[in-house]
Amino acid sequence: MIPIHFKNPEVNTVESLYCKLGLTKKGKGKQEDLRKKPQVVDDWCKANLIIDGKAYSFPEIIKADFNTLTRIRQEIDANNLAMPDDLKNYMINTLYEIRFPRKEFVDALEVTVCPYCNRNFVNSTFDKTMCDLDHFYEKSEYPVLAISFYNLIPVCHYCNHTKSTNKITYSSHDGRFKTDEMLAFDFHIRGMDFLYDKQQLGIEIYDAKEIESNIDILKLRELYQIHTDVVQECIKKAMMFEPGYLNYLASEYKDLFATKEELYRIVFGNYYEEEEYGKRPLSKMTTDILRDLMLLCYSMDLRDMSD
Ligand SMILES: [Zn+2]
Repeated sequence: MIPIHFKNPEVNTVESLYCKLGLTKKGKGKQEDLRKKPQVVDDWCKANLIIDGKAYSFPEIIKADFNTLTRIRQEIDANNLAMPDDLKNYMINTLYEIRFPRKEFVDALEVTVCPYCNRNFVNSTFDKTMCDLDHFYEKSEYPVLAISFYNLIPVCHYCNHTKSTNKITYSSHDGRFKTDEMLAFDFHIRGMDFLYDKQQLGIEIYDAKEIESNIDILKLRELYQIHTDVVQECIKKAMMFEPGYLNYLASEYKDLFATKEELYRIVFGNYYEEEEYGKRPLSKMTTDILRDLMLLCYSMDLRDMSD
């Protein structure tokens, strides 16, 4: 579970995505017909979505941050609000399916690895996205949120398919939590031959209650068991690369590495700063396991290497 963010300046990114929806474009013929519907949706929003005395417009709902979306969702639930079918169809089948700027959206978030599982790449090609967009608040249930930027999370096909219409409790747009506060990986040894037989290793996930349902519904505990070979590699690397050797590499090849973090990444094969977990698959798992191993073997924390 990796948080995601629009890059700065955030407001410009969201504004430019909003412009790409073409809701305010002047046009003729068919385009003019399309312009009438957003006005009807806007009227419906202002009449129904009034929170703490404020009536929310359609553009405000599209651009609303995650906390506001949660308040809007609560309002919809509390009042059993249902959009008329023609507006619901327009939201889902026209605005989301046809007009939503998927590639620009994914590019703006710079998501390249699925933030739900941290296992699969979700990169774009020149004109297409290779990921699914998960509606954190399900679009069939909350069609008014179908194109709200902070309701959409680029995820791998597996996670989207597995989540389906199930409700999970943590959104990667929810800025209240950091990955390390919510989640920790560990491993256990089942047999003496664990260095040669990956089946003798098991992976454990410790989760905070905020993401319990995410881990269960996405079946991450079961899925991660396939990665015991990576754990085995971590154990062997921790045995091979003692700190003195890493320091030797750092001084011997100092022109090769911009930072010690880069040296770490090359030796251990992954990013280890929390903000960078989303750049490469399994970063969170390998960081947790290597950190534990190094603490165990050398009584040191790898993070101290950057000193
Ligand atoms: Zn995934």
